[in-house]
Amino acid sequence: MTATAARTEAIATNLEAVRTAIAEACERAGRDPAGVTLVGVTKTHPFEVIEAALGAGLTDLGENRVQEFVPKATAAAEANIEVNWHFIGHLQRNKARQVLPHLGTLHSLDSEALIAEVEKRWTSGIRPTSGDPVRCYLEVNVAGEAQKHGVPPEAIGPLLEAARRSEAFEVDGLMTVAPRVDDPEQVRPVFRQLRELAERHGLEGLSMGMTDDYPVAIEEGATIVRVGRAIFGDRLS
Ligand SMILES: *Cc1c(COP(=O)(O)O)cnc(C)c1O
Repeated sequence: MTATAARTEAIATNLEAVRTAIAEACERAGRDPAGVTLVGVTKTHPFEVIEAALGAGLTDLGENRVQEFVPKATAAAEANIEVNWHFIGHLQRNKARQVLPHLGTLHSLDSEALIAEVEKRWTSGIRPTSGDPVRCYLEVNVAGEAQKHGVPPEAIGPLLEAARRSEAFEVDGLMTVAPRVDDPEQVRPVFRQLRELAERHGLEGLSMGMTDDYPVAIEEGATIVRVGRAIFGDRLS
């Protein structure tokens, strides 16, 4: 077997295990697995893993850095490979124009300045090639960690209003990155808080859960999980 074939097979096997874990978490929570979207996070991995992942049935892919996202999304478009792209990392205003044509969904909307920037680009014709507004999640720093991106819970209201006023965005819900812990049970309260915040603001989408904690996130209501290592193996850099 070639290295490529071996990698393709490993990704398919991992993907099946993740789908099983998602179904089991849904079962425990009395939820329908159809209500959970799986985003495969390909960061640090080469373009070939994208083809392997899509071949194994994944439709949604996420990247967290502009300098990695843009070349991969461009290569996929040029090869006529259809991907639902998710940008999941912090997006600097001055990089928004590079990312916009490929979206998809932005999981890290965290400032009115970013909304204004995207709005400005949208008005000047730099838009998703789909022609649709950018679907988005407002990133919330639930645990109040100093080094984390995202707005504090009390800033959700004004940010949500600004996003709803903009024709460039369609708000899907809230997103958070939970603190790193040894036992995923420790972050259950963070996921629960995000769900309560979403309910309070009348939002249904919950982007929460990564390799170490996605089953717990699903038990707490995640509607979209962002999983990298469990599908693609350890990060390459
Ligand atoms: C890297 C990343 C993920 C995926 O992390 P894994 O631990 O590899 O599953 C999810 N969300 C964000 C924002 C990330 O940067």
